[in-house]
Amino acid sequence: MTETARTALDTRLDTRKIAYQLPQPGGMVPDIFVGGALALDGDERDWVPQSADVAFKPLVLCVSQGYYVNILRVRAAGVLSRHRHSGPVHAFTLRGRWRYLEHEWEATPGDYAFEPPGETHTLVVPDDVTEMATLFHVTGGYTYVDPYGQALGYEDVFTKLDAVRRHYERIGLGAAHADRLIR
Ligand code: FE
Repeated sequence: MTETARTALDTRLDTRKIAYQLPQPGGMVPDIFVGGALALDGDERDWVPQSADVAFKPLVLCVSQGYYVNILRVRAAGVLSRHRHSGPVHAFTLRGRWRYLEHEWEATPGDYAFEPPGETHTLVVPDDVTEMATLFHVTGGYTYVDPYGQALGYEDVFTKLDAVRRHYERIGLGAAHADRLIR
């Protein structure tokens, strides 16, 4: 075989750069792509207000598996909430600092924290922090509790979705604008 023929054969056999050629499986849900997902100072309409100083930017609202991924933004110091998790949480801090009264560590940009199902903790933003932003992957729900575990309220992917829909409706995008994030 000549060198030219061998090169041609090698090219034909090299499947590494060929995209998958078959249909995706039936029933598969569409992917989601959020450009600038970690941008904290972009379009303010992306941020769903929860209170005067607290807002979140939803990235996926997975109602079929009961989890959501969002960036929480807090622009006030002090105690944010005390809550008990029914599922695991993964937290990546992007801006500012925060901690739990129940732990020694303090989360700063670039840090990762795992919050185990069952844990109750109290989120605090230190006095000298004007803004904290953290990406949370939250599975299941969490219950707001008093210091002795008495339930005061709850949050889950459905309360988040409801807030997102109301926000999009209020600012003129329409509640259905949330559908692109639901899976
Ligand atoms: Fe938590």
